[in-house]
Amino acid sequence: MDETLRTPVIAGNWKMNMAPPAAVAFMREFATRHAPATDRTVVLFPPALSLWALKQALSGRGDIGLGVQDIHWEPDGAFTGATSAAMARAAGARYALAGHSERRHVFGETDEEVGRKAAAAAAADMVPMICVGEQLEEREAGRLEEVVLRQLDAALEPLGAEPGTLAVAYEPVWAIGTGVTATPADASAAHAILRRRLEARYGAERAGGMPILYGGSVKPDNAAELLAADGVDGVLVGGASLEAESFAAIAAAG
Ligand code: PEP
Repeated sequence: MDETLRTPVIAGNWKMNMAPPAAVAFMREFATRHAPATDRTVVLFPPALSLWALKQALSGRGDIGLGVQDIHWEPDGAFTGATSAAMARAAGARYALAGHSERRHVFGETDEEVGRKAAAAAAADMVPMICVGEQLEEREAGRLEEVVLRQLDAALEPLGAEPGTLAVAYEPVWAIGTGVTATPADASAAHAILRRRLEARYGAERAGGMPILYGGSVKPDNAAELLAADGVDGVLVGGASLEAESFAAIAAAG
């Protein structure tokens, strides 16, 4: 997919929450709280099982995008329990997370698998949102740059020299679901590392169309300062995206 993402990008990752009825109820309420806005991109990542119902519930709200939390890189076949990129696309997803820290650290996903997933998403005409982030021990050992660049390079490599639209999410593992948020300065420092790498790979102009989001305990009361931080082009929100009221407050920030 080759299109420009309007920034800030405000994305909500529901993880393993929100069955179809709850997802539809959320959308009804969110649509009343969040007016269509052309100056930002709003995306929700429901569980794959709820994608189609949510797509139907959007009823004309083309300003709200949907994404899939995880895909398999194979197009079809004997992969019990897995969702292909084409299935997710057909169910309404225009975005695909690749390499969320829970996939990496709970399910043991490797850098190479993340790259295959990002490439499968792009091949199915979705925007890959590549997640990278260091664990606390890695940060404390001064390895932040090495870790996030290794993860980023491995995910970008299979996309080739001229990838279509993509986004990157910097999500320090120690800040996800913990209530501990990176400071705006921490986020800016990591985003600068990632931005330099995108520019080195693709040139400043092309890289300029690749937003870098911050994720990790973003809430209504800290979203504005994180979105105002240098180099932060959006936020990826977990827990606080489960309530229409708090996600609408975050979507209005920045
Ligand atoms: C996430 O799941 O990507 C995330 C950042 O979670 P939380 O906002 O709950 O820390």
